[in-house]
Amino acid sequence: MNKIHVLPPEIVSKIAAGEVIERPASVVKELVENSLDAGARGIEVKLKGAGKTLIRVSDDGCGIAREDIETLFNRHATSKIASAEDLYDIRSLGFRGEALYSVAAVSDVTLSSRTKGEDCGWEAHVRGGERLGLKPCTRGTGSALEVKELFFNTPARKKFLKSNTAELNAILDVLLPYCLLYPEKSFFLENDGRALCDLRPETGFIARCARALNLDAKDMIEGTKDFGAIRLHAVLGDINIQRSRKDLQFVFFNGRPVSNRTVSFHVNEIYRLLLSPGVYPFFCVFITMPPEDLDVNVHPAKREVRVKDDLKLITLLRPFCEY
Ligand code: ADP
Ligand code: MG
Repeated sequence: MNKIHVLPPEIVSKIAAGEVIERPASVVKELVENSLDAGARGIEVKLKGAGKTLIRVSDDGCGIAREDIETLFNRHATSKIASAEDLYDIRSLGFRGEALYSVAAVSDVTLSSRTKGEDCGWEAHVRGGERLGLKPCTRGTGSALEVKELFFNTPARKKFLKSNTAELNAILDVLLPYCLLYPEKSFFLENDGRALCDLRPETGFIARCARALNLDAKDMIEGTKDFGAIRLHAVLGDINIQRSRKDLQFVFFNGRPVSNRTVSFHVNEIYRLLLSPGVYPFFCVFITMPPEDLDVNVHPAKREVRVKDDLKLITLLRPFCEY
């Protein structure tokens, strides 16, 4: 008998889903990114049981037309890139077309959506990757995705979920950076009927940072500077904001919240002259640079970004923040 065989599609889809969807927070991240890519001005996230029972993300974005709803849950189904060249100039948060396929492979998903031109919306139901139906529905322009019974068919994954508190914190960690990045949009988050975040549109970054992080706007300064193709923008806390952990530090590259050790390290270094040891500052650093000088493909969930010329960026960033 042969020792080698090709895995059946149900197993392949679960393995693929495992790379993108690890926990409720990964679902929230993918769905919120889709809403932002759809141009939503308001995003609402409602959870039950910290997302283990229900995750519902609704938006007032462009909506999805009926014919697209039919292809959407296929692997690599995306409206965001069409050719390999597009990979070098990505302007949307998503582009791999794996999120909805992955979420639907390991949960029970109901999508309802309506585009501006249509006179009714459409509702699709997919469970464990199996399409269970598509029917018309009444709703406003925009989309809502309801994800129930996460990991019902992958018990091993389900067993590794942490306490509701831990899963909820992970969800907040995913949502907060987007709240800071888009002060003009409204964000709402609730769990089991209790509101955890209710942000109305603000006029600026300082106002949004203050509201979202429960800080005082007068303890922050903001600056922007262009260095040729690189633009640096930062909201920095002064010495009145002192944290015992690095929990209020945010780095963004080209509109994407990411972790980048080099940038975080150097900004913390600057503050070492001002703050006592073991005390950490608040900062938000927004870096815009040519996409070809970055690699966002390093991580499947796009959590990390690599800068090709780190040193050049740091030599601009340090004096900018010090000033
Ligand atoms: P990706 O975001 O990588 O393209 P996804 O699986 O997340 O892949 O989504 C597939 C496609 O479904 C997107 O390219 C987009 O066209 C559409 N889509 C998903 N969510 C929304 C939404 N909330 N509003 C409008 N379109 C959406
Ligand atoms: Mg997406």
